[in-house]
Amino acid sequence: GKVLVTGANGYIAMWVVHTLLEQGYTVRGTVRSESKAKHLSKVFASYSEKLEIVVVPDITKEGAFDEYVKDVDAIEHTASPFHFKAGEPDELIIPAVHGTTRVLESALAHGTRVKRIVVTSSCASVMQVQDTPRKFSEEDWNDAAIAEVREKGRAASQPAKYRASKTLAERAAWDFVAKNKEKLTWELVVLNPPYVFGPAIHEVGAPESLNESMHDWFHSVLKGSKDPKQLSTIGSCWIDVRDLAEAHVLAIKKEEAGSNRIIISEGPWKWQDWIVAAREAGVSPPVSDDSYEPSKAVHHILYDTTKAAKLLGLKYRSIKESTRDSIEDFKARGWL
Ligand code: NDP
Repeated sequence: GKVLVTGANGYIAMWVVHTLLEQGYTVRGTVRSESKAKHLSKVFASYSEKLEIVVVPDITKEGAFDEYVKDVDAIEHTASPFHFKAGEPDELIIPAVHGTTRVLESALAHGTRVKRIVVTSSCASVMQVQDTPRKFSEEDWNDAAIAEVREKGRAASQPAKYRASKTLAERAAWDFVAKNKEKLTWELVVLNPPYVFGPAIHEVGAPESLNESMHDWFHSVLKGSKDPKQLSTIGSCWIDVRDLAEAHVLAIKKEEAGSNRIIISEGPWKWQDWIVAAREAGVSPPVSDDSYEPSKAVHHILYDTTKAAKLLGLKYRSIKESTRDSIEDFKARGWL
């Protein structure tokens, strides 16, 4: 089969492309400019016959994907801004929402072969900031982030702006499907991962240009950027980027996954869990909280992952394995 991957040069998308190619798929990846195609072609040089890169300069433009959906069997829509530097919330919301809608519109109008569309949403569109522990499921929506952004505009917190963009984009996808139900020849699958960590194969020149989640990981775990007091209290849930890529492929393969919103998460962590794993992998993180007792950690945000287990049967890498491989990656880059 042939699969269209949007934002193919991104941290997660590069692993999605890798996994698709390894499993025998032909891939068409979209990037925003010609210069971003180079690294992709280099990394996947051994698959040159199975990989095509096309330039879609503006994913929000009407008909942006019309030409590129015509001969594909499935679409993986990953392109969406993820950073904490937005001024107006619309800087994130417009590309997130319109980018998603354009993909679906093009698929409806021209994707005669398309059977499956996978949208990379996020736990950002599921969770809400908590003072007490709570387990979230696919029933939950982050309406609080939307409310904060509507109320405060530019002054909303950066996480709220990002989370609102993901929630609104995912809502737009499900609304589109509901509105066009009778006409669709494909089914939507939405994947909701929490923090994504693990080695990078996309183009990264320096630690500063790592994608948002690995930038945080690199500096928090290996460069001591966190206050030691926060190491055993601050955390969330996570998934290894390679497992997330596998989930993207399973989401097009598994018949029963169709029309589902699916949370995929290995489990919770505190920064100190990664620091312990880094030490086991042979490096000495500059800050540590050795009083940490994992069994006493209070995790405020947890996810019900029974749906993922049932529909995808995904296996997850451990904190230990992910840390070891990320460190190996950073060592190979000469950063450690
Ligand atoms: P990256 O920043 O590495 O990749 C983002 C991709 O989206 C790039 O291809 C980027 O293109 C593209 N993109 C960003 N802004 C725009 C825009 N305005 N118009 C068109 N394309 C754009 O991030 P990730 O790989 O981490 O993120 C990929 C997806 O996964 C996103 O949808 C993100 O929300 C989601 N996600 C990520 C998590 C994480 O922890 N990393 C957690 C949960 C979900 P360019 O290089 O040209 O900027």
